[in-house]
Amino acid sequence: MIDGAILTGDELKSDVVVDCDVCVIGSGSGGAWLAHELVKQGKRVVMLEEGGHHTRREFDMTEARAFSTLYQELGNRATDDLAITILQGRSVGGGTTVNWTTSFRTPDRILNHWRDVHGIDTLSPEILAPHFEAIEKRLHIAAWPEAMMNANNRVLWDGCGALGYERQMLRRNVNACLNLGTCGMGCPVDAKQSMLVTMIPDAVEAGLQVYANTSARSLRWTGRRVEAVVAEVLNPVTNRPTGVAVTVKPKLVCVSGGAINSPALLLRSGLEAQGRVGERTWVHPALISLGRFERQIKAYEGAPQSVSSHHFFDRGPGKMGFFIEVPPIHPMLTAVVLPTNGPDTQEQFRHYLNLNATLALMVDGLLPEEQGATVRLRSNGYSRFSINYHFSEALWEACKTAQRELARIQFAAGAIEVQTFHQRPVVMKSVDELYRIDDAMWEPTRVKLTTAHQLGGCSMGRDAATSVVDPTLRFHTMDNLFVVDGSVLPTSLGVNPQETIFAIARWAAKHIGQAVS
Ligand SMILES: Cc1cc2nc3c(=O)[nH]c(=O)nc-3n(C[C@H](O)[C@H](O)[C@H](O)COP(=O)(O)OP(=O)(O)OC[C@H]3O[C@@H](n4cnc5c(N)ncnc54)[C@H](O)[C@@H]3O)c2cc1C
Ligand code: SF4
Repeated sequence: MIDGAILTGDELKSDVVVDCDVCVIGSGSGGAWLAHELVKQGKRVVMLEEGGHHTRREFDMTEARAFSTLYQELGNRATDDLAITILQGRSVGGGTTVNWTTSFRTPDRILNHWRDVHGIDTLSPEILAPHFEAIEKRLHIAAWPEAMMNANNRVLWDGCGALGYERQMLRRNVNACLNLGTCGMGCPVDAKQSMLVTMIPDAVEAGLQVYANTSARSLRWTGRRVEAVVAEVLNPVTNRPTGVAVTVKPKLVCVSGGAINSPALLLRSGLEAQGRVGERTWVHPALISLGRFERQIKAYEGAPQSVSSHHFFDRGPGKMGFFIEVPPIHPMLTAVVLPTNGPDTQEQFRHYLNLNATLALMVDGLLPEEQGATVRLRSNGYSRFSINYHFSEALWEACKTAQRELARIQFAAGAIEVQTFHQRPVVMKSVDELYRIDDAMWEPTRVKLTTAHQLGGCSMGRDAATSVVDPTLRFHTMDNLFVVDGSVLPTSLGVNPQETIFAIARWAAKHIGQAVS
C-alpha cells in the first residue's frame, strides 16, 4: 500500500515521475467511485484532477466564489453559438461538489435501448441493481420528505397534481441536510454526500494519491498501449501552468474527465477513433419557463430539487420525450441563463422573490436522426473547446410542446404570469394564451437553453465502426486504456445522471482491476 494524500498545486514545486498500477484522470462521479474500488482491491492508484481541492471551510454560499473555483470556465462554458449554456463542475469531486443531489437509477427503457440499438449486453437492470443498492446505502440516498419541499418545487408538485400528471418526490444523496439551498455552491456543512466527502476521503485513507490542480495534457502511447500520462501543474489561483510537470507511468489508464473534457484529452493525444471521439455528445437540453406568483416563492432557499415529473418521458415513436424538474433561482445563475439583457433583466429581478422556474429536460440521443453535439479542439487545445450542437426538428417540436406544458403546470399552481426564455419572451397571463407559444422563434439563440448534464462523446458500443469504447469501456484499439465517466453513455438518460455514472464505475472496477497487468 502507498500513503494516501491530496496534493495541491501549491505543494507541487518540482517535476515528479510516478509509477502506479492505475492512473485515473478526473475525480468526479466516475473517477471517484472507480478509484475507490480499485484501491480497495489493493491497486496503487494515482488520480489527477485539474481543478482545486476546495472544502466546506471555503463554501461561503456565494455564487461569485463558487463559479470562479468550482465550475468549468468559471461558469461560462457554452456551445460555440452560445445557444446552450453549459454548467459543469471542476474541482476535487467534479460535478458532485456542485450538483443538486437528485439521485435516480437508470431507467430500464434506456438500458433496453442501449442493448437493442448499441449492442450493450453487459449492462442490465439486474446487473446494475447490486451496485445501485451499495451506492444508495453509502451515500444515504433516500426520498426527500414531502413536508420539506420548498415553495419552488411545490409549484411543480401542485401543478402536476391539479392536472393529473405523474409526479414524484425525488431521492437525494444527503445526510443531515439543513435545507439551505446552496448545493450549487458547495455544501457548507458536508451534508451533501458528494465524492469530495465520501469516496475520495475513503480512498485516500486506503492509499489513493490525488494530484489536484494537475491537468492531464496528453497520453503518450505506442501500438496498443498507453505508456505515460503527461500532466501540468496549474497555479491554484490563476489556473495557469506553473512549469512543474507530473508524469505518471501506470500499467493502465482510466480517463474520467467527464463528457467534453475526456474527448478533448483523447483528441489532444491523437486518439480520435476516426473522428468519432467528441461526436454524439448529449446534454439533456433544458428549456425554462418563468412563472410569477402573488405569493413569495423565494426559489433560492430550501433543497433545490425535490420533485420531478416523468409524465412526458415517453411520447411515442418518432417523438423526443422530456422530463420536468425545478432549478433554484440564485442571482448569478439566473443572470447566466437569462436570455434578456439590461432593462428587461432588471424587470425580471424586480419580482425576484415571487418567481418560480420550471425546467423541461429533453431526452436527446434516442432518435436515429439525432447527432447531438460535436466537441473539437481550439488552438491551444486545453480549454474553451469548440462545442457545436446540431438541433433537430424533433428537438424543436419537443421544446414547443414542453413550453406549453410548463406554462400549463405553472398556471395550474396559481401563477399570475408565465413567460418563455426567448430573446423576446412570450408573456402570458392565462392558459388561454398558450397558443402564442407556437408563434415564437424556435431557433438557436432565439430561445435560451441550458444544461448541467453532459453525456457521450466517447460512446460505448459493440461496433468499433460506430463507437469509441467497447461494452466493457475499453478504448476499441488500445489494451490498457478505459474511459469511465458520463462520456461513455450512448444516449442521454431521461433522469439526472450521477447515480448511473456511479453505478457504471463501480461495475467496471471489477474487470478493470483484473485487466491491470
Ligand atoms: C450545477 C449542477 C447541478 C447538477 N445537479 C445534478 C443532480 O442533482 N443530480 C445528478 O444526477 N446530476 C446532477 N448534475 C450532473 C452530475 O453532477 C454530472 O453528470 C456528473 O458528476 C458527471 O460525472 P463525470 O464523472 O462524467 O464527470 P465530472 O463529475 O464532471 O468529473 C470530471 C472531473 O474531471 C476533471 N478533469 C477534466 N479534464 C481533466 C484533465 N485533463 N486532467 C485532470 N482532470 C480533469 C474535471 O475538472 C472534473 O472535476 C449537476 C451538474 C451541475 C453542474
Ligand atoms: S440543501 Fe442540504 S445538501 Fe444542499 S447545501 Fe444545503 S445543507 Fe447542503
